Amino acid sequence: MKELVIGTKNKSKLKEINEIYTDLPFNCIDLAAFPNVSEVVEDGSSFAENAAKKASGYALQVGKWVLAEDSGLVVPILKGDPGIHSARYAGEHGGDAANNTKLLQELSKYPAENRDAYYICVACLSDSQGKVMALTEGKCHGRIISDYLGQGGFGYDPLFLVLEYHQTFGELSSRVKHAISHRSKALAQLRPTLWQLFSNS
Ligand code: IMP
Repeated sequence: MKELVIGTKNKSKLKEINEIYTDLPFNCIDLAAFPNVSEVVEDGSSFAENAAKKASGYALQVGKWVLAEDSGLVVPILKGDPGIHSARYAGEHGGDAANNTKLLQELSKYPAENRDAYYICVACLSDSQGKVMALTEGKCHGRIISDYLGQGGFGYDPLFLVLEYHQTFGELSSRVKHAISHRSKALAQLRPTLWQLFSNS
């Protein structure tokens, strides 16, 4: 089976990307397969800048095409936070639990109708020379609730209510998440390019 390198060490992202691309003729592998790769610093000022930095930066290091994505949760009443800092909202080593706790604290004074939020994912595909070949974006709208519901997904998912389904991403199946998520919308737009790449290689 052919392999596509995903510029991440986040196993939850890798799992979702493999599930979303399950019908495509390759397997996605993450950077664990390249122990000498040094981490690309995500110091861009937008999701797109960070996605491009990761895709190009890792492609140059591994000498192969790389798909990278930068994603996060945007809460308008919090002036866009956690935004590009979603992974480290509660600090460098806080992790999902601490990030969720901080989000609930920041939102505690707001009623349900002010707690709208969206996930965003910007996906970037770089060729083996570090040249950006595609940059795509997907969004998924919902609302941050005040209690954790469900064990599925990762990150902010147990707090992210999808209004149409009356359930959080923690409760919804991965099949439903992939039908509507920010990640699947961004990745869907790369499908024609990936089909072409893997049918020619
Ligand atoms: P990145 O690795 O810099 O792109 O940061 C992504 C962060 O955004 C994750 O660590 C989560 O905190 C959050 N995030 C992105 N996508 C999702 C999702 O699908 N569910 C839950 N949290 C997500």
